[in-house]
Amino acid sequence: MEVDVMKKIPVREQDAKERATNFEEVCLGYNADEAMAEASRCINCKNAQCVKGCPVNIDIPGFISKVKDGDFKEAYDVISKSSALPAVCGRVCPQESQCEGKCIRGIKGEPISIGKLERFVADWATENGIKPAVDAPSNGKKVAVIGSGPAGLTCAGDLAKMGYDVTIYEALHQPGGVLVYGIPEFRLPKEKVVAKEIENVKSLGVKIETNVIVGKSITIDELIEEEGFDAVFIGSGAGLPKFMGIKGETANGVFSANEYLTRSNLMKAFDSKSTTPIKVGKKVAVVGGGNVAMDAARTALRLGSEVHIIYRRSEEELPARVEEVHHAKEEGIIFDLLTNPVEIIEDENGWVSGIKCIRMELGEPDASGRRRPVEVKGSEFVIDVDTVIMSLGTSPNPLISSTTKGLEINNHKCIIATEDTGATSKEGVYAGGDAVTGAATVILAMGAGKAAAKGIDEYLQSK
Ligand SMILES: Cc1cc2nc3c(=O)[nH]c(=O)nc-3n(C[C@H](O)[C@H](O)[C@H](O)COP(=O)(O)OP(=O)(O)OC[C@H]3O[C@@H](n4cnc5c(N)ncnc54)[C@H](O)[C@@H]3O)c2cc1C
Ligand code: SF4
Repeated sequence: MEVDVMKKIPVREQDAKERATNFEEVCLGYNADEAMAEASRCINCKNAQCVKGCPVNIDIPGFISKVKDGDFKEAYDVISKSSALPAVCGRVCPQESQCEGKCIRGIKGEPISIGKLERFVADWATENGIKPAVDAPSNGKKVAVIGSGPAGLTCAGDLAKMGYDVTIYEALHQPGGVLVYGIPEFRLPKEKVVAKEIENVKSLGVKIETNVIVGKSITIDELIEEEGFDAVFIGSGAGLPKFMGIKGETANGVFSANEYLTRSNLMKAFDSKSTTPIKVGKKVAVVGGGNVAMDAARTALRLGSEVHIIYRRSEEELPARVEEVHHAKEEGIIFDLLTNPVEIIEDENGWVSGIKCIRMELGEPDASGRRRPVEVKGSEFVIDVDTVIMSLGTSPNPLISSTTKGLEINNHKCIIATEDTGATSKEGVYAGGDAVTGAATVILAMGAGKAAAKGIDEYLQSK
């Protein structure tokens, strides 16, 4: 295969028109020849900057050089030393601002497609039945992990590799956190990818108990005092949606993006044979400009709706990944930028019939460094829609903090924990991921799960 060292080997994708009507994965990934060709572009830097951009410190040049040689098993072993979820990360990590953002090749040309190579290796390992290796014999100590998202799975996997007896308690009926209930099938297949990587974590000896809401079914104090756990890790995420507080927000047909996506992903509302279908709007407004907004919009499109994204700043400030915005546009999502909702209009039966918006212009930069959107007086107008999906961010659910003695939280309801060990204000209790930072990314949650596993190990060794 011909390689231009300055350019990425292009990755195959489903055609935009076709994929807008199905839930199959958009990106088809590399095959072995393409992966080896892309890996040959890496110059195997001695002081590899890409590794500095990876929150879980994968030996990136190490695994890429194995891909270049066609030794995919060895490449998987290198990755799985640092990451429990490579097939997930290869698909959803914002590589452009992490490893690939730091890649030396990116200075004069295009960076190495590190994410696509990681995905190829992980998928190859799954197809060939290869599992991560367990390092240590059992040490007889028990750790409880709350939440089975990327933070909880990573913390649990790392502790199991060190010999701990780990049980994950998950509130929902399926493990995976946002990976199963939030990110849609067309970006992250549930059976083919997420379930397989969760199986790998279980193969390390981790037990997962679903339908257990810590704070209701059992408290953290009971886990320690009555169930005999030596330490607890909280990875309960940030699942509480925010709303605008505008008139009409309680009308029928207004969803939070979390509810809409959960119904589609977890309750299989996208499947016509599902017993729990979702209301499919003819014309849907999604309010917000982040990755979650793009996922909600692209899901609604696939369910058959005309979809408008309403965002108060301009395209330049859209917080979603460039790739997601590009895909959304290709599929036919309409972007109403510099536009802000002021009211949701209801019909006589209390159902949404429109969304009243006002035009915005950009003023001086605000505390976030982005130019502040300012209303243009008298520019109100109405978009006729029958469904509104609010995607304005989320915060941690206060259930755990309000039922655990001595666990401190900040003004945003986030649990206070140290960055390097995940230690909280309560002895033996650690935390990480979105529950600590507020809504962030998969890889940051995994990094926090990893740091906490190390912190818990040091704490229990010293006891
Ligand atoms: C729609 C959507 C798309 C996203 N897209 C991307 C993306 O493309 N790339 C990216 O990097 N990030 C993305 N993110 C963000 C990313 O998914 C999160 O930052 C990450 O999942 C946080 O991991 P976590 O383990 O901290 O929490 P979660 O993944 O939220 O997992 C927390 C788990 O804890 C469980 N839980 C909560 N309370 C309790 C309790 N009391 N008892 C027991 N269990 C409990 C929850 O049910 C959940 O399963 C997206 C988020 C959303 C919502
Ligand atoms: S910085 Fe880029 S070229 Fe250098 S080792 Fe990392 S991936 Fe390879």
